[in-house]
Amino acid sequence: MQIFGAKGKVKGAHQWRGVIEEYRHRLPVTSRTPIISLREGGTPLIYACNLSELLGNNVWIKYEGLNPTGSFKDRGMTMAISKAAEDGAKAVICASTGNTSASASAYAVKAGMTPVVLIPKGKIAMGKLAQAVIHNSSIVQVNGNFDDCLTLAKELSENYPVALVNSVNPFRIQGQKTAAFEVVDMLGDAPDIHAMPVGNAGNITAYWMGYKEYYGDNISSQLPAMYGFQAAGAAPIVKGKIVKNPETIATAIRIGNPASWAQAVDARDASGGVIDSVSDREILSAYRLIAAQEGIFVEPSSAAGLAGLIKYKKAKKLPKDKTIVITVTGHGLKDIQYALDSTKKPVVIPVDLKAAAKALGLK
Ligand SMILES: *Cc1c(COP(=O)(O)O)cnc(C)c1O
Repeated sequence: MQIFGAKGKVKGAHQWRGVIEEYRHRLPVTSRTPIISLREGGTPLIYACNLSELLGNNVWIKYEGLNPTGSFKDRGMTMAISKAAEDGAKAVICASTGNTSASASAYAVKAGMTPVVLIPKGKIAMGKLAQAVIHNSSIVQVNGNFDDCLTLAKELSENYPVALVNSVNPFRIQGQKTAAFEVVDMLGDAPDIHAMPVGNAGNITAYWMGYKEYYGDNISSQLPAMYGFQAAGAAPIVKGKIVKNPETIATAIRIGNPASWAQAVDARDASGGVIDSVSDREILSAYRLIAAQEGIFVEPSSAAGLAGLIKYKKAKKLPKDKTIVITVTGHGLKDIQYALDSTKKPVVIPVDLKAAAKALGLK
């Protein structure tokens, strides 16, 4: 295979090739597109025994935190940056609640471009900021929220030589739809329900696009109902109006005016699904549950899909014995604030067997 910039051929060890190489025939690339990839995608779909029991369904977790920069954003970014490279871009810009900037920065430097990121002041998790910093981004904190950052990024890309790589960039959605392909390729069919968090609504749009594409080509026999969950303090789609000052601890979905609003509504209605909201308390409770019972560490925003299903189960609004896939969007190590808050301080003991056993409650 061709590896961008690699000197000489690489021996063919079996390794996932990244979403563009794996699904090339379904993506808008040509032989002239330089493929900028960190071998994103190919993430595990993990059967969740304990959550299956809890929810009365067969529950699978699509663990997107295992992408190269720790979130699903890499699927779209490999496309956006590859197409920007094809166009000869020297610099790329994005507005970000954190993960887009982490991903854009990594893929931009891989392509030899300068990454420029606009982030809302004080509202980004430290792990994500660290990623943008370590990849040498030009970072500007904007005294405003994500929606303000996106407006500014668009204006900059229209007036200066920087390519916009937010999910309004159609190539991002194209790359992200590959997650739906992976689910069907693994399960042998589409699930009955697919649940996930909704922020700017690009991801739910992308999954729906991917599922429809496979269904249209008879690769799957059904389409899932799409269940999207917003944070209660940032739930414009649920409320049917823009939220001026969105507030939630789930910073990745702290968005008041989603770019893909109409497409998300279409995915909901065409699939017979729902877009609903969950409180921060419900999000944090699901966040702890999936870590404690399934061994999967996600960032708080990523737990919104599970939180929504638990809420629906309690309200007796969840069907039984269905196949449900939950996308958990980003890795827990990006935003550890709430993990540490919930943990008791470790006990300090001398180097002593009896003391250790006593402290650990071993008998
Ligand atoms: C971007 C992001 C979301 C929201 O996805 P949208 O496509 O904006 O709806 C959710 N969780 C995490 C971890 C994200 O990075």
